[in-house]
Amino acid sequence: MRYEQMTEDQQEKMLARLYKRLNKTLFDGKLEARPIWIVEEIDWVSDGEAWAAFSAEKQRFFFSSVINEDIKRLKKKDQIFFLSCLMVHEMVHQYCWFESIDDSGHNEVFRKVAEDHGLKFEFVDGEWKQKGSFVIYAATCNFRF
Ligand SMILES: [Zn+2]
Repeated sequence: MRYEQMTEDQQEKMLARLYKRLNKTLFDGKLEARPIWIVEEIDWVSDGEAWAAFSAEKQRFFFSSVINEDIKRLKKKDQIFFLSCLMVHEMVHQYCWFESIDDSGHNEVFRKVAEDHGLKFEFVDGEWKQKGSFVIYAATCNFRF
């Protein structure tokens, strides 16, 4: 089934499985699973609207339902890759929180930790843009949902 066709309950369960896979392959299983909630919008973490967030205070991941609209044009395997990159990004926030690393504003330290776990960045038009990588693709290319 495609992501946007799933119920929120199915999406939460699938994302929990994806988290487990990424924790095992990219974080040596060091992270502790936290609840993942689908919410209507995430507007408390950035100027605009975010796709996903990790709340250290609530010890919970949030994924916005706006994603449904944004990824419905993608092929299913690209949906998996997109969601994996998003998840790894939020897991890096969880990792930084756990290790007491200041990752505010996606600073240089955040980018270093993220690169150690498979993300890549490039500097475009005066800002750092996140990219996926072969490492993340390889970790989840046989993941099914
Ligand atoms: Zn972030």
